[in-house]
Amino acid sequence: MRMMDIKARACFNCHEYMAINAGSTQSQAAMGKFDKDHSRHMVQTVAFGEIGHGYRSKTRQYLEAV
Ligand SMILES: [Zn+2]
Repeated sequence: MRMMDIKARACFNCHEYMAINAGSTQSQAAMGKFDKDHSRHMVQTVAFGEIGHGYRSKTRQYLEAV
C-alpha cells in the first residue's frame, strides 16, 4: 500500500489523529470511539500525508481500546 493511499481520522481541535484501515472492523470500531471522544469537534478523514505537523498519533491507543 502506498503511503498516499493511507487515510487518517483527524481532530482539528485537539491536533490528534488515528490511521484508519477501511477493511478492518477493529479499525472501524476504533474510529467510532475516536469520533465519540471528539464529538462537537472538527473531525475529518484526510489522506495520511495531509496531516499537519505537530499532530499526535493516537492510533495505537484506539486500536488497543477496542
Ligand atoms: Zn478533539
